[in-house]
Amino acid sequence: MPDSSPAFAATKKCPHCGRWTEWQQQPTDRCQHCGQVLEPRRAASDQTRQQQADAPLAPVLLIEIKPDDGPVVRFFKHIIRSGQLAFAAIMAFFVWLVTVAAG
Ligand SMILES: [Zn+2]
Repeated sequence: MPDSSPAFAATKKCPHCGRWTEWQQQPTDRCQHCGQVLEPRRAASDQTRQQQADAPLAPVLLIEIKPDDGPVVRFFKHIIRSGQLAFAAIMAFFVWLVTVAAG
């Protein structure tokens, strides 16, 4: 590469104190002058995304169908599982409804 200059240090105008500061283009970078987060909105959204990623999905505890269950037991367990799946679908629908209603 023809460019032999050292690592390019990006600068950004701090939204808090209005001075230019070096940053690594990370949402958590802070201003050299006032110490505020340079992109508070991006940092917050990253945090939210992280929390959502950490949060476990709605647990759908399906009944276990064992291979040594008799045909009648398996039949009833299949019915219970269908009910559980239907319940999960209804819950998902309500979550969607609340999300839509909340805008
Ligand atoms: Zn600043």
